[in-house]
Amino acid sequence: MKKILVTGGAGFIGSHLCKRLLDDGNEVVCLDNLFTGTLDNIAGLTEHPRFTFVNHDIILPYYPEEIDEIYNLACPASPVHYKYDAIKTAKVCFLGALNTLGMAKRLHAKILQASTSEVYGDPAVHPQTEDYFGNVNPIGVRSCYDEGKRAAESLFFDYHRKYGLAIRVVRIFNTYGPNMCLDDGRVVSNFIVQALQGRDITVNGDGTQTRSFCYVSDLVDGMIRCMNGSVTGPVNIGNPVEISMRALAEKVIALCGSGSAVVYQPNTPDDPMRRKPSIDYIGQLYGWKPSVSLDDGLKKTIAYFEERLHKEGVTCLKRK
Ligand code: NAD
Ligand code: UDP
Ligand code: UDP
Repeated sequence: MKKILVTGGAGFIGSHLCKRLLDDGNEVVCLDNLFTGTLDNIAGLTEHPRFTFVNHDIILPYYPEEIDEIYNLACPASPVHYKYDAIKTAKVCFLGALNTLGMAKRLHAKILQASTSEVYGDPAVHPQTEDYFGNVNPIGVRSCYDEGKRAAESLFFDYHRKYGLAIRVVRIFNTYGPNMCLDDGRVVSNFIVQALQGRDITVNGDGTQTRSFCYVSDLVDGMIRCMNGSVTGPVNIGNPVEISMRALAEKVIALCGSGSAVVYQPNTPDDPMRRKPSIDYIGQLYGWKPSVSLDDGLKKTIAYFEERLHKEGVTCLKRK
Protein backbone atom coordinates (compact mmCIF):
# COMPACT_ATOMS: atom_id res chain seq x y z
CA MET A 1 0.00 0.00 0.00
CA LYS A 2 1.34 3.43 -0.99
CA LYS A 3 0.54 6.75 0.66
CA ILE A 4 -0.41 9.14 -2.13
CA LEU A 5 -1.01 12.89 -2.05
CA VAL A 6 -3.36 14.33 -4.68
CA THR A 7 -3.34 18.14 -4.83
CA GLY A 8 -6.55 19.43 -6.40
CA GLY A 9 -8.14 16.15 -5.31
CA ALA A 10 -11.62 17.65 -4.79
CA GLY A 11 -11.77 18.87 -8.39
CA PHE A 12 -13.19 17.15 -11.43
CA ILE A 13 -10.23 14.94 -12.42
CA GLY A 14 -8.75 14.82 -8.91
CA SER A 15 -11.91 13.30 -7.40
CA HIS A 16 -11.89 10.46 -9.96
CA LEU A 17 -8.17 9.93 -9.39
CA CYS A 18 -8.61 9.78 -5.58
CA LYS A 19 -11.39 7.19 -5.97
CA ARG A 20 -9.39 5.02 -8.35
CA LEU A 21 -6.27 5.16 -6.10
CA LEU A 22 -8.39 4.16 -3.09
CA ASP A 23 -10.01 1.33 -5.07
CA ASP A 24 -6.49 0.13 -5.93
CA GLY A 25 -5.77 -0.23 -2.19
CA ASN A 26 -3.74 2.92 -1.51
CA GLU A 27 -3.92 5.48 1.27
CA VAL A 28 -4.95 8.83 -0.22
CA VAL A 29 -4.45 12.36 1.09
CA CYS A 30 -6.56 14.84 -0.87
CA LEU A 31 -5.28 18.41 -0.56
CA ASP A 32 -7.51 21.17 -1.93
CA ASN A 33 -8.53 24.75 -1.11
CA LEU A 34 -12.00 24.21 -2.68
CA PHE A 35 -11.59 27.09 -5.13
CA THR A 36 -13.22 25.21 -8.00
CA GLY A 37 -13.48 21.80 -6.33
CA THR A 38 -16.25 20.79 -3.93
CA LEU A 39 -16.74 18.48 -0.98
CA ASP A 40 -19.65 17.02 -3.00
CA ASN A 41 -17.13 15.60 -5.46
CA ILE A 42 -15.47 13.59 -2.68
CA ALA A 43 -18.61 12.95 -0.58
CA GLY A 44 -18.39 9.22 -1.24
CA LEU A 45 -14.74 9.09 -0.12
CA THR A 46 -14.57 11.10 3.10
CA GLU A 47 -15.71 8.23 5.36
CA HIS A 48 -13.18 5.83 3.84
CA PRO A 49 -10.56 4.78 6.46
CA ARG A 50 -7.71 5.24 3.97
CA PHE A 51 -8.83 8.73 2.87
CA THR A 52 -7.92 12.11 4.40
CA PHE A 53 -8.99 15.55 3.24
CA VAL A 54 -6.71 18.53 3.91
CA ASN A 55 -8.05 22.05 3.25
CA HIS A 56 -4.91 23.89 2.18
CA ASP A 57 -3.79 26.41 -0.44
CA ILE A 58 -0.79 24.91 -2.24
CA ILE A 59 0.79 28.30 -2.91
CA LEU A 60 1.75 28.00 0.77
CA PRO A 61 4.25 25.35 1.89
CA TYR A 62 2.86 22.10 3.27
CA TYR A 63 4.86 19.57 5.28
CA PRO A 64 3.29 16.10 5.44
CA GLU A 65 5.07 13.43 7.48
CA GLU A 66 5.33 10.70 4.92
CA ILE A 67 4.25 10.43 1.27
CA ASP A 68 5.31 7.94 -1.44
CA GLU A 69 3.77 9.62 -4.48
CA ILE A 70 2.40 13.07 -5.33
CA TYR A 71 -0.03 13.88 -8.14
CA ASN A 72 0.01 17.67 -8.58
CA LEU A 73 -3.37 18.70 -10.02
CA ALA A 74 -4.17 21.83 -7.99
CA CYS A 75 -5.00 24.59 -10.49
CA PRO A 76 -8.20 25.95 -11.99
CA ALA A 77 -8.51 24.35 -15.44
CA SER A 78 -11.48 25.99 -17.14
CA PRO A 79 -10.53 29.15 -19.09
CA VAL A 80 -13.31 31.06 -17.29
CA HIS A 81 -11.92 30.00 -13.92
CA TYR A 82 -8.22 30.48 -14.64
CA LYS A 83 -8.79 33.93 -16.18
CA TYR A 84 -10.90 34.99 -13.16
CA ASP A 85 -7.78 35.76 -11.08
CA ALA A 86 -4.93 35.43 -13.55
CA ILE A 87 -2.21 36.38 -11.05
CA LYS A 88 -3.41 33.74 -8.60
CA THR A 89 -3.46 31.20 -11.44
CA ALA A 90 0.17 31.95 -12.28
CA LYS A 91 1.05 31.64 -8.58
CA VAL A 92 -0.71 28.29 -8.25
CA CYS A 93 1.04 26.95 -11.34
CA PHE A 94 4.51 28.00 -10.22
CA LEU A 95 4.40 27.99 -6.40
CA GLY A 96 2.23 24.86 -6.35
CA ALA A 97 4.87 23.11 -8.46
CA LEU A 98 7.70 24.51 -6.30
CA ASN A 99 6.13 23.44 -3.01
CA THR A 100 5.19 19.96 -4.20
CA LEU A 101 8.67 19.50 -5.69
CA GLY A 102 10.25 20.64 -2.41
CA MET A 103 8.02 18.13 -0.65
CA ALA A 104 8.97 15.33 -3.08
CA LYS A 105 12.65 16.13 -2.58
CA ARG A 106 12.39 16.08 1.22
CA LEU A 107 10.32 12.86 1.31
CA HIS A 108 12.02 11.09 -1.65
CA ALA A 109 8.59 10.78 -3.25
CA LYS A 110 7.75 10.26 -6.91
CA ILE A 111 5.89 13.25 -8.34
CA LEU A 112 3.59 13.67 -11.34
CA GLN A 113 2.68 17.03 -12.84
CA ALA A 114 -0.73 17.47 -14.47
CA SER A 115 0.41 19.58 -17.39
CA THR A 116 -1.75 20.44 -20.34
CA SER A 117 -2.14 20.57 -24.11
CA GLU A 118 -2.24 24.35 -23.54
CA VAL A 119 1.57 24.28 -23.48
CA TYR A 120 1.24 23.87 -27.28
CA GLY A 121 -0.85 27.09 -27.46
CA ASP A 122 -2.53 27.59 -30.84
CA PRO A 123 -0.54 24.80 -32.45
CA ALA A 124 1.13 25.08 -35.84
CA VAL A 125 1.81 21.30 -35.80
CA HIS A 126 -1.09 18.87 -36.05
CA PRO A 127 -1.62 16.49 -34.34
CA GLN A 128 0.52 17.65 -31.42
CA THR A 129 3.52 15.49 -30.60
CA GLU A 130 5.53 15.80 -27.39
CA ASP A 131 8.58 17.21 -29.20
CA TYR A 132 6.62 20.25 -30.45
CA PHE A 133 7.64 23.41 -28.53
CA GLY A 134 4.29 25.11 -29.03
CA ASN A 135 2.94 28.45 -30.15
CA VAL A 136 1.91 30.38 -27.04
CA ASN A 137 1.12 34.09 -26.78
CA PRO A 138 3.24 34.97 -23.71
CA ILE A 139 1.26 38.14 -22.86
CA GLY A 140 -2.30 37.12 -23.71
CA VAL A 141 -5.29 36.43 -21.47
CA ARG A 142 -4.59 32.67 -21.51
CA SER A 143 -0.90 33.06 -20.70
CA CYS A 144 -1.32 32.91 -16.90
CA TYR A 145 -2.28 29.28 -17.43
CA ASP A 146 -0.30 28.37 -20.57
CA GLU A 147 2.94 30.00 -19.43
CA GLY A 148 2.26 29.03 -15.81
CA LYS A 149 2.08 25.37 -16.83
CA ARG A 150 5.14 25.75 -19.05
CA ALA A 151 7.10 27.28 -16.13
CA ALA A 152 5.93 24.39 -13.93
CA GLU A 153 7.23 21.85 -16.48
CA SER A 154 10.53 23.70 -16.57
CA LEU A 155 10.80 23.57 -12.77
CA PHE A 156 9.98 19.85 -12.76
CA PHE A 157 12.82 19.13 -15.19
CA ASP A 158 15.25 21.32 -13.24
CA TYR A 159 14.48 19.44 -10.00
CA HIS A 160 14.98 16.22 -11.95
CA ARG A 161 18.33 17.34 -13.37
CA LYS A 162 19.63 18.95 -10.17
CA TYR A 163 18.35 16.55 -7.50
CA GLY A 164 17.56 13.41 -9.49
CA LEU A 165 13.89 13.60 -8.52
CA ALA A 166 11.65 10.92 -10.01
CA ILE A 167 9.32 13.16 -12.00
CA ARG A 168 6.49 12.35 -14.39
CA VAL A 169 5.03 15.06 -16.63
CA VAL A 170 1.78 14.31 -18.44
CA ARG A 171 0.13 16.71 -20.90
CA ILE A 172 -3.59 16.29 -20.53
CA PHE A 173 -5.87 17.10 -23.48
CA ASN A 174 -9.53 18.15 -23.06
CA THR A 175 -11.15 15.79 -20.59
CA TYR A 176 -14.81 15.58 -19.58
CA GLY A 177 -17.14 13.53 -17.40
CA PRO A 178 -19.11 13.53 -14.14
CA ASN A 179 -17.99 15.97 -11.40
CA MET A 180 -17.32 18.82 -13.82
CA CYS A 181 -18.86 22.02 -12.46
CA LEU A 182 -22.25 23.03 -13.78
CA ASP A 183 -20.99 26.59 -14.28
CA ASP A 184 -17.49 25.59 -15.28
CA GLY A 185 -17.65 27.51 -18.57
CA ARG A 186 -16.00 24.64 -20.43
CA VAL A 187 -17.62 23.58 -23.63
CA VAL A 188 -18.89 20.12 -22.65
CA SER A 189 -20.52 21.26 -19.40
CA ASN A 190 -21.91 24.42 -21.05
CA PHE A 191 -23.44 22.60 -24.02
CA ILE A 192 -24.97 19.80 -21.93
CA VAL A 193 -26.47 22.11 -19.32
CA GLN A 194 -27.80 24.44 -22.02
CA ALA A 195 -29.30 21.51 -23.96
CA LEU A 196 -30.89 19.99 -20.85
CA GLN A 197 -32.40 23.34 -19.88
CA GLY A 198 -33.63 24.04 -23.43
CA ARG A 199 -31.51 27.17 -23.62
CA ASP A 200 -29.54 28.33 -26.67
CA ILE A 201 -26.27 26.47 -27.23
CA THR A 202 -23.51 29.10 -27.27
CA VAL A 203 -20.89 28.34 -29.92
CA ASN A 204 -17.89 30.68 -29.85
CA GLY A 205 -16.73 32.04 -33.21
CA ASP A 206 -17.92 30.12 -36.26
CA GLY A 207 -17.60 26.77 -34.47
CA THR A 208 -15.03 25.35 -36.89
CA GLN A 209 -12.38 25.20 -34.18
CA THR A 210 -11.69 21.65 -33.01
CA ARG A 211 -10.92 19.78 -29.82
CA SER A 212 -10.44 16.07 -29.03
CA PHE A 213 -12.29 14.91 -25.91
CA CYS A 214 -11.15 12.19 -23.52
CA TYR A 215 -13.48 10.55 -20.98
CA VAL A 216 -12.19 10.94 -17.43
CA SER A 217 -11.79 7.22 -16.58
CA ASP A 218 -9.49 6.77 -19.60
CA LEU A 219 -7.43 9.78 -18.57
CA VAL A 220 -7.06 8.61 -14.95
CA ASP A 221 -5.93 5.20 -16.15
CA GLY A 222 -3.30 6.84 -18.37
CA MET A 223 -2.06 9.04 -15.53
CA ILE A 224 -1.61 6.08 -13.19
CA ARG A 225 0.24 4.13 -15.87
CA CYS A 226 2.60 7.07 -16.34
CA MET A 227 3.20 7.39 -12.59
CA ASN A 228 3.90 3.65 -12.32
CA GLY A 229 6.09 3.60 -15.44
CA SER A 230 9.69 4.72 -15.61
CA VAL A 231 9.56 7.55 -18.15
CA THR A 232 9.81 11.19 -17.05
CA GLY A 233 7.96 12.43 -20.13
CA PRO A 234 6.43 14.69 -21.17
CA VAL A 235 3.73 12.28 -22.29
CA ASN A 236 0.48 13.30 -24.00
CA ILE A 237 -2.74 11.76 -22.70
CA GLY A 238 -5.96 12.30 -24.61
CA ASN A 239 -8.44 10.89 -27.08
CA PRO A 240 -7.38 11.67 -30.66
CA VAL A 241 -10.93 11.72 -32.10
CA GLU A 242 -11.23 15.34 -33.26
CA ILE A 243 -14.51 17.23 -33.54
CA SER A 244 -15.51 20.81 -34.35
CA MET A 245 -17.48 22.80 -31.76
CA ARG A 246 -20.32 23.13 -34.27
CA ALA A 247 -20.52 19.34 -34.65
CA LEU A 248 -20.24 18.90 -30.87
CA ALA A 249 -23.21 21.23 -30.37
CA GLU A 250 -25.30 19.16 -32.78
CA LYS A 251 -24.23 15.90 -31.15
CA VAL A 252 -25.10 17.13 -27.63
CA ILE A 253 -28.51 18.40 -28.80
CA ALA A 254 -29.24 15.01 -30.39
CA LEU A 255 -28.06 12.96 -27.38
CA CYS A 256 -30.09 15.14 -24.97
CA GLY A 257 -33.16 15.02 -27.24
CA SER A 258 -33.20 18.79 -26.83
CA GLY A 259 -35.01 21.49 -28.80
CA SER A 260 -32.23 24.01 -28.15
CA ALA A 261 -31.10 26.31 -30.95
CA VAL A 262 -27.42 26.93 -31.74
CA VAL A 263 -26.29 30.56 -31.49
CA TYR A 264 -22.92 31.95 -32.51
CA GLN A 265 -21.18 34.50 -30.30
CA PRO A 266 -17.82 36.30 -30.58
CA ASN A 267 -14.88 34.07 -29.70
CA THR A 268 -12.45 34.73 -26.86
CA PRO A 269 -8.87 35.90 -27.68
CA ASP A 270 -6.18 33.34 -28.54
CA ASP A 271 -8.63 30.42 -28.72
CA PRO A 272 -6.66 27.54 -30.29
CA MET A 273 -8.10 26.66 -33.73
CA ARG A 274 -7.21 22.96 -33.77
CA ARG A 275 -6.19 20.51 -31.08
CA LYS A 276 -5.60 16.79 -31.29
CA PRO A 277 -3.07 14.71 -29.39
CA SER A 278 -0.62 12.32 -30.92
CA ILE A 279 -0.83 9.38 -28.52
CA ASP A 280 1.76 7.23 -30.25
CA TYR A 281 4.26 7.73 -27.42
CA ILE A 282 2.04 6.56 -24.54
CA GLY A 283 0.85 3.72 -26.75
CA GLN A 284 4.41 2.53 -27.33
CA LEU A 285 5.37 3.01 -23.67
CA TYR A 286 2.42 1.47 -21.87
CA GLY A 287 0.03 0.16 -24.52
CA TRP A 288 -2.47 2.80 -23.39
CA LYS A 289 -5.29 3.99 -25.59
CA PRO A 290 -8.71 5.43 -24.72
CA SER A 291 -11.59 2.97 -24.55
CA VAL A 292 -14.67 5.18 -24.06
CA SER A 293 -16.21 6.64 -27.23
CA LEU A 294 -17.38 10.26 -27.31
CA ASP A 295 -21.03 9.15 -27.59
CA ASP A 296 -20.79 6.79 -24.60
CA GLY A 297 -18.88 9.32 -22.51
CA LEU A 298 -21.32 12.09 -23.33
CA LYS A 299 -24.28 9.85 -22.37
CA LYS A 300 -22.72 9.19 -18.95
CA THR A 301 -21.98 12.90 -18.50
CA ILE A 302 -25.50 13.91 -19.55
CA ALA A 303 -26.96 11.47 -16.98
CA TYR A 304 -24.76 13.06 -14.30
CA PHE A 305 -25.78 16.62 -15.18
CA GLU A 306 -29.47 15.66 -15.33
CA GLU A 307 -29.21 14.49 -11.73
CA ARG A 308 -27.23 17.55 -10.66
CA LEU A 309 -29.74 19.95 -12.19
CA HIS A 310 -32.41 18.51 -9.95
CA LYS A 311 -30.46 19.69 -6.93
CA GLU A 312 -31.24 23.26 -6.03
CA GLY A 313 -28.77 26.13 -6.31
CA VAL A 314 -25.74 24.12 -7.35
CA THR A 315 -22.81 26.34 -8.22
CA CYS A 316 -19.13 25.58 -7.99
CA LEU A 317 -16.89 28.61 -8.37
CA LYS A 318 -16.19 30.23 -5.00
CA ARG A 319 -15.55 33.82 -6.08
CA LYS A 320 -13.33 35.43 -3.46
P1 NAD B 1 -10.83 21.54 -11.53
O1 NAD B 1 -10.91 23.03 -11.51
O2 NAD B 1 -12.08 20.77 -11.42
O3 NAD B 1 -9.84 21.02 -10.40
C1 NAD B 1 -8.79 21.77 -9.89
C2 NAD B 1 -8.75 21.56 -8.38
O4 NAD B 1 -7.64 22.30 -7.85
C3 NAD B 1 -10.00 22.10 -7.69
O5 NAD B 1 -10.47 21.16 -6.76
C4 NAD B 1 -9.53 23.36 -6.99
O6 NAD B 1 -10.28 23.69 -5.84
C5 NAD B 1 -8.09 22.99 -6.69
N1 NAD B 1 -7.24 24.16 -6.50
C6 NAD B 1 -7.16 25.27 -7.28
N2 NAD B 1 -6.28 26.13 -6.76
C7 NAD B 1 -5.76 25.56 -5.65
C8 NAD B 1 -4.81 25.96 -4.67
N3 NAD B 1 -4.21 27.15 -4.74
N4 NAD B 1 -4.52 25.11 -3.65
C9 NAD B 1 -5.14 23.92 -3.56
N5 NAD B 1 -6.06 23.49 -4.44
C10 NAD B 1 -6.36 24.29 -5.48
O7 NAD B 1 -10.05 21.15 -12.86
P2 NAD B 1 -9.71 19.72 -13.49
O8 NAD B 1 -10.31 19.69 -14.83
O9 NAD B 1 -10.01 18.63 -12.53
O10 NAD B 1 -8.14 19.86 -13.68
C11 NAD B 1 -7.22 19.24 -12.79
C12 NAD B 1 -5.81 19.42 -13.32
O11 NAD B 1 -5.69 18.85 -14.63
C13 NAD B 1 -5.39 20.89 -13.45
O12 NAD B 1 -4.05 21.01 -13.04
C14 NAD B 1 -5.51 21.16 -14.92
O13 NAD B 1 -4.61 22.16 -15.33
C15 NAD B 1 -5.18 19.80 -15.52
N6 NAD B 1 -5.79 19.66 -16.86
C16 NAD B 1 -7.13 19.44 -17.00
C17 NAD B 1 -7.67 19.32 -18.26
C18 NAD B 1 -9.13 19.05 -18.49
O14 NAD B 1 -9.57 19.00 -19.64
N7 NAD B 1 -9.94 18.83 -17.49
C19 NAD B 1 -6.85 19.45 -19.40
C20 NAD B 1 -5.50 19.72 -19.19
C21 NAD B 1 -4.97 19.79 -17.93
N1 UDP C 1 8.36 22.71 0.77
C1 UDP C 1 7.11 22.28 1.16
N2 UDP C 1 7.00 21.08 1.80
C2 UDP C 1 8.06 20.29 2.03
C3 UDP C 1 9.32 20.73 1.63
C4 UDP C 1 9.46 21.95 0.98
O1 UDP C 1 6.11 22.95 0.95
O2 UDP C 1 7.85 19.21 2.60
C5 UDP C 1 8.49 24.01 0.06
C6 UDP C 1 9.46 24.93 0.72
O3 UDP C 1 8.77 25.81 1.56
C7 UDP C 1 10.11 25.67 -0.43
C8 UDP C 1 9.80 24.84 -1.66
O4 UDP C 1 9.01 23.73 -1.21
O5 UDP C 1 9.50 26.92 -0.63
C9 UDP C 1 11.02 24.30 -2.35
O6 UDP C 1 11.74 23.50 -1.43
P1 UDP C 1 13.29 23.24 -1.60
O7 UDP C 1 13.75 22.45 -0.41
O8 UDP C 1 13.58 22.67 -2.93
O9 UDP C 1 13.88 24.71 -1.65
P2 UDP C 1 14.49 25.63 -0.52
O10 UDP C 1 13.64 25.51 0.72
O11 UDP C 1 15.86 25.08 -0.31
O12 UDP C 1 14.45 26.97 -1.14
N1 UDP D 1 -16.61 27.02 -26.46
C1 UDP D 1 -17.81 27.29 -27.09
N2 UDP D 1 -18.88 27.57 -26.32
C2 UDP D 1 -18.84 27.59 -24.96
C3 UDP D 1 -17.61 27.29 -24.32
C4 UDP D 1 -16.51 27.02 -25.11
O1 UDP D 1 -17.89 27.28 -28.33
O2 UDP D 1 -19.88 27.85 -24.34
C5 UDP D 1 -15.44 26.69 -27.30
C6 UDP D 1 -14.17 27.46 -26.97
O3 UDP D 1 -14.15 28.70 -27.65
C7 UDP D 1 -13.11 26.50 -27.47
C8 UDP D 1 -13.72 25.11 -27.22
O4 UDP D 1 -15.12 25.34 -27.07
O5 UDP D 1 -12.92 26.67 -28.85
C9 UDP D 1 -13.18 24.43 -25.96
O6 UDP D 1 -13.31 25.36 -24.88
P1 UDP D 1 -13.06 24.94 -23.37
O7 UDP D 1 -13.22 26.18 -22.56
O8 UDP D 1 -13.90 23.78 -23.01
O9 UDP D 1 -11.57 24.39 -23.31
P2 UDP D 1 -10.17 24.88 -23.93
O10 UDP D 1 -9.77 23.76 -24.81
O11 UDP D 1 -10.37 26.14 -24.71
O12 UDP D 1 -9.32 25.07 -22.75
